[in-house]
Amino acid sequence: MAVQCQQFIGGQWLSATGKRVSDRDPSYVNQEIAYFYEATPDDVRHAIQVAYDAYLDWREVPAPQRGRVLLKAHQILSERREELALIMMREQGKTLAEARGEIQKGLNLLEFFAGEGFRLSGETTPSEIPHNFTYTVRQPLGVVAAITPWNFPFAIPVWKLAPALVAGNAVVFKPASWTPLMSTAIVKGFVDAGLPAGVLNMVLGSGPVVGQAIALDPLTKAVSFTGSNAVGASLQQQLAGRPIKLTMEMGGKNAVVVMPDADLAVAAEGVVGGAFGCAGQRCTATSRVLVHRAIRQQFEAACLARIEQIEVGPPDAANVTMGPVIDEHQLTQGLAMVEQAVAEGAVVLAGGHRLRDGARADGVFMAPTVLSEVRPEMAVARDEIFGPVLAMMSFDTLDAAIAIVNGVEYGLTASIYTQDIKTAQRFIERVEVGMVHVNNPTIGGEAQLPFGGIKSSGLGPREMAHEGTLFFTETKTVFLDYSGTRRTGNLY
Ligand code: NAP
Repeated sequence: MAVQCQQFIGGQWLSATGKRVSDRDPSYVNQEIAYFYEATPDDVRHAIQVAYDAYLDWREVPAPQRGRVLLKAHQILSERREELALIMMREQGKTLAEARGEIQKGLNLLEFFAGEGFRLSGETTPSEIPHNFTYTVRQPLGVVAAITPWNFPFAIPVWKLAPALVAGNAVVFKPASWTPLMSTAIVKGFVDAGLPAGVLNMVLGSGPVVGQAIALDPLTKAVSFTGSNAVGASLQQQLAGRPIKLTMEMGGKNAVVVMPDADLAVAAEGVVGGAFGCAGQRCTATSRVLVHRAIRQQFEAACLARIEQIEVGPPDAANVTMGPVIDEHQLTQGLAMVEQAVAEGAVVLAGGHRLRDGARADGVFMAPTVLSEVRPEMAVARDEIFGPVLAMMSFDTLDAAIAIVNGVEYGLTASIYTQDIKTAQRFIERVEVGMVHVNNPTIGGEAQLPFGGIKSSGLGPREMAHEGTLFFTETKTVFLDYSGTRRTGNLY
């Protein structure tokens, strides 16, 4: 029977009065696994006020102690890791191995941010004035918003909630409407760890109503958003001119460059894993591969041989290595991009269609798709697809490849496969992305390393790592005169 998910406001689980939203398993779309009633703008206002009241006490709790609450949440969620992975598999469609990987990543992030309670330090600097002590402190912002997508329903919320909380803020969390079960499980982990009522609130509901109301509320001091460029751009416009901090992580059109000296087996493994892992629904997914003309045929063959080993189907079926896409809209969009590319001259080397046979009859499955003869100006080479589609292009020189990689609006991640350090170093220096890999897939991130993109892929400070925590703080500069003499301060 479907579980009802509820709003979590002021330490209480509450039902709302808005539209009923159904949460379905993308492998068996006829099965409703959960549902919720959408929050209204009044619920949002209530959550924000409650959060503000709780913030006034939470900021008084010493940061190391706040960190210990996160450490406890880490312990609790670690104990529930298998249950969480199963929820993710059913609700979002990742394979169990992928779901376990994401849970582990989220736990690493929680562990890292728990320790940030000991590292929220400012600086001491010499003053120009005798017997003055000048230093900076880091202070929380107040109420902050965390708006998250469905594709990493555990790790992304954790990498926003944990730094915001350890820094002393209260959070209003608006998860994606596709993943209420996972969002509820995360909140339960924090609550069971002893987080005081009101410090973390979750409001379930539609992005344009609930997400927007949270972001635009005058008490909201920061918005940490991860999602599509369209929504990110609209939020930026609406918040322009307001005294509010923003960090926005958005889409990608990530490319791999394969040089003639690359180990082709390693490169093919990395490209196929990067393109089709999580059914291509990662912001860091490999969406373009640029292959040196001299090795094009061998590389295509190596990729196709690897793709043949991919078993697409419901993740609870035996041997499945690629699950469904999230919904019909995502599937239709992916197929339409393929159709347009073919009309523009691309050639389908693999896939290009829906899979509907046998165990795949009730789900939203797309065959892993490879297009060759793609040119940089085609839509399939420029726009984010967010599905299992890989566009192959050829190049003759490294500089030409770098120009193609940089010739899109996105700048999230890129990778090069080469054995030559000079080639790798030139690529690292010239490629316009926030994260660059050498002999690695375009995917991945670690808790202690900044994560995010440039150009249209990201705005504001990076997430994760110490930078991720600093976003949720303000610097206050202190001038402390202990001379005991009357002074008018310095004159400039
Ligand atoms: P999305 O449609 O932009 O939604 C993201 C979140 O924003 C959801 O919680 C959504 O709520 C909410 N939202 C929608 N409209 C809103 C509005 N007008 N005001 C405020 N909030 C609003 O993105 P998605 O489809 O969930 O996620 C896929 C996208 O995320 C891809 O573009 C992917 O590249 C990007 N992504 C980026 C990163 C990164 O770190 N760079 C990581 C993961 C994903 P509802 O669910 O209720 O619509």
